[in-house]
Amino acid sequence: MKKMEFAKEPKGFFLRVKCSGCGSEQNIFSSASRTVKCLSCNQVLAESGASKIKLKAKVLKSF
Ligand SMILES: [Zn+2]
Repeated sequence: MKKMEFAKEPKGFFLRVKCSGCGSEQNIFSSASRTVKCLSCNQVLAESGASKIKLKAKVLKSF
């Protein structure tokens, strides 16, 4: 049986972060190419960097 392959992203993974401003949790992609802001309070959670994002929020877990 052939295995389904969706996202072939060897360097990508998701991060569960907690906003330090309002405390809401959000999933962000580790190789996001642009700034990620909190959906609730608009605080910057991560900024895009050269090869990977720079996190500004607390990481709860990665998956
Ligand atoms: Zn927030």
